[in-house]
Amino acid sequence: MNHLKPNDFGPVIEADRAHVWHHMMQHKPLESADPRIIVEGRGLHVWDAAGRRYLDALSGGVWTVNVGYGRTSIADAVRDQLVTMNYFAQSAGSIPAALFAEALVEKMPGLSRVYFNNSGSEANEKVFKMVRQIAQRHHGGRKWKILYRERDYHGTTIGALASSGQAERAAMYGPYPDGFVMVPHCLEYRRQWEVENYGERAADAIEEVILREGPDTIGLLCLEPLTAGGGVIVPPEGYWQRVQEICRKYDILLHIDEVVCGLGRIGTWFGYQSFGIQPDFVTMAKGVASGYAAISCTVTTDAVFDLFKDDTDPMAHFRDISTFGGCTAGPAAALENMRIIEDEKLLDNCLTMGERLMERLEGLKSKHEVVGDVRGRGLFAGIELVADRTTKEPANEKLVQKVVSEANARGVIIGMTNRSIPGLNNTLCLAPALIAKSDDIDTIADAIDEALAATFGK
Ligand code: PMP
Repeated sequence: MNHLKPNDFGPVIEADRAHVWHHMMQHKPLESADPRIIVEGRGLHVWDAAGRRYLDALSGGVWTVNVGYGRTSIADAVRDQLVTMNYFAQSAGSIPAALFAEALVEKMPGLSRVYFNNSGSEANEKVFKMVRQIAQRHHGGRKWKILYRERDYHGTTIGALASSGQAERAAMYGPYPDGFVMVPHCLEYRRQWEVENYGERAADAIEEVILREGPDTIGLLCLEPLTAGGGVIVPPEGYWQRVQEICRKYDILLHIDEVVCGLGRIGTWFGYQSFGIQPDFVTMAKGVASGYAAISCTVTTDAVFDLFKDDTDPMAHFRDISTFGGCTAGPAAALENMRIIEDEKLLDNCLTMGERLMERLEGLKSKHEVVGDVRGRGLFAGIELVADRTTKEPANEKLVQKVVSEANARGVIIGMTNRSIPGLNNTLCLAPALIAKSDDIDTIADAIDEALAATFGK
């Protein structure tokens, strides 16, 4: 535990209360309650300023700290790099950027080029800009529209929000730029079509949108491999193969947003590799350096990269920069993060522990009527809570929030669909670090079991 005594944090709490604007939350309750301040982390555990210890089943609240807390080897790698060479704009190269780019694309056959940025939103914006430039220079202004899926999330900036299918998150920040078109979600539990092959049908719905808009107008299809914050939706069997066929048929570039799934979250280096598809763009952020430094990457193919190579045309190159894409802390941390995942065989652990997690959560279904659906892959899981299993009426959002608080009171941090989908913020979310062991999985499942009982009774 931290060398400071809990009482020593009083001035910190006051400074926070007076000056910090926290993310994604209403501040009114903090006028009478203390803000939560996390002061230390080790492995899967964190301690708050009051000295309470939690098992963090969310990897830093937003599924980021894939290799766990307190990794001194990452801190050492960052320190060594920063005292040697901390920053230079990415118009020049750096040693860790070159070595990390090489190590990264080795895990991504068919992709070859890495553009460095700082956040997931920014990584996605770069793809949109590349696609718009390709449309202008190579398609005579056609193929400029970007398709995105209902319930997926791609970030907080205006372009990224315009490509996000979460109505509550986007509601207050319009108007949005033109050319972003939504396709239906593919959650089979909330069926939109009564057919046998649901995966193919949900993918066909994308084709319907393409035909409606005009295939000639569409440049990009942007999807999460598994919809994360929008409800932990694993696309059904047959979905991905059909999506890939549709993209090829209409000459539409496929962009997979791996901001959450990248670097092992669902048991493969990247989520798309669990589904056997070949994207043209992959973006990643959170797990790339597990939160030890800010880094995101936009990765693409030689074919895309070559479209920007033409020294006879002053408008040919990608007129873009990300200042802190040149900070070497990111790739230095990312290299060490990747080594840890490899050496500690965390992908295997993720798959084994993921199976155990799913088994334990399935067990909750027979015990608690309120559990409507359990879904997930690797160490990413969702539990959809319903007021009625037959009608699938969503459980009351305040009660879902109470389950989260009850789990917290039992020392386990869990989350819920992030107040983003009207009427459907009813899914509990879990994403422990990839180092989780059987005991940790049991602690998480037991806490949820008790939290459900405390909220809804048996
Ligand atoms: N894409 C996905 C799938 C995400 O979950 C998020 C963040 N939750 C983002 C993009 C945006 O990342 P950032 O907050 O780093 O901009």
